[in-house]
Amino acid sequence: MQIATILGARPQFIKAAAVSRAFAQHPSINEVMIHTGQHFDKNMSDIFFSELGIRDPDYHLGIHGMNHGAMTGRMLEGIEKILMQIQPEFVLVYGDTDSTLAGALAAAKLNIPIAHVEAGLRAFNKSIPEEVNRVLTDHVAEILFTPTEHADHNLARESIPQSKIFQVGDVMYDATLHFSDLASSGSHILEDCKLEPKSFFLATIHRPQNTDTPEALKQVCDLLEAIAKDVKVLWPVHPRAKKQMLQFGIKLNHVQCIEPVGYLDMIELERNARVILTDSGGVQKEAFFHRVPCVTLRPETEWVELVEHGWNILLPLSGDVQFMKQMVLQRAGKPGNEVQLYGS
Ligand code: UDP
Repeated sequence: MQIATILGARPQFIKAAAVSRAFAQHPSINEVMIHTGQHFDKNMSDIFFSELGIRDPDYHLGIHGMNHGAMTGRMLEGIEKILMQIQPEFVLVYGDTDSTLAGALAAAKLNIPIAHVEAGLRAFNKSIPEEVNRVLTDHVAEILFTPTEHADHNLARESIPQSKIFQVGDVMYDATLHFSDLASSGSHILEDCKLEPKSFFLATIHRPQNTDTPEALKQVCDLLEAIAKDVKVLWPVHPRAKKQMLQFGIKLNHVQCIEPVGYLDMIELERNARVILTDSGGVQKEAFFHRVPCVTLRPETEWVELVEHGWNILLPLSGDVQFMKQMVLQRAGKPGNEVQLYGS
């Protein structure tokens, strides 16, 4: 069976590291990988392929750096051409990026069945670009692989037939389980950054709501600076946040900023952090995998079970930096309930 997998962004490389490894063990599956180019820098793309043993993509479209509509359109055109040429039996898409939607639309127009990994997630906020991508993808997919019961309910509410839904747990958990040992032996990030285990807070911020206006990004940076006066804060800065900080003239004096790190270093940072402060979807879950308390700088989350079980709190930007700082500091040493949420 030939499966065409669409990849484009950092979290998709990590998910593919788990799934493509399983495909490779099945001689009857021939996986063709199409990289849209959405993430392209060495430390947002190449490092994941080399470090996680993902083979080179069969096609690389090199599409990035445009507005959502233009980028999705160019990807759709490029992916369609390849699908017409190779005629796969299935197209596999991950998550909720523009690459996900472009892959799903290209396949749907050619009547090729689509499998969606990480189906059924909802923030119930259509102003988030990812929400539009995931809702549309779920409605054209033939097979919906969901991570949780909540995701199943969301799909049922949208009248997606039960027969298309398969609750399989979370592939990011597979990735964490598989690469954790390698991270222990292969990562020197704590020494490199002069960090003692459990002595620092780890931050990752990249969502448009927190980075695209000077007001929001300044508030995020003021919060991190305020925390960093009391406890070390390490921030591997996403290219979007870096670009906007430069554009808005925002400088940090106390926060330890580094370039984005590879997945093995990230595992090592996450599991040694005292608290994780993030707006990333994947990092919220990984905080739980490593049993580290998390604060999510957003008004809502798709991963509601983490909040229900006390592993995560939502902290939308409120304008009151001192209040927010206290909320974050209070999270240290406060684990949630001991539960299995994404597979065992
Ligand atoms: N990640 C990484 N290096 C970093 C920051 C994040 O390897 O410097 C990993 C992280 O461990 C998680 C994934 O990237 O597996 C999350 O990606 P991102 O936050 O970009 O996207 P989201 O999960 O919000 O879609």
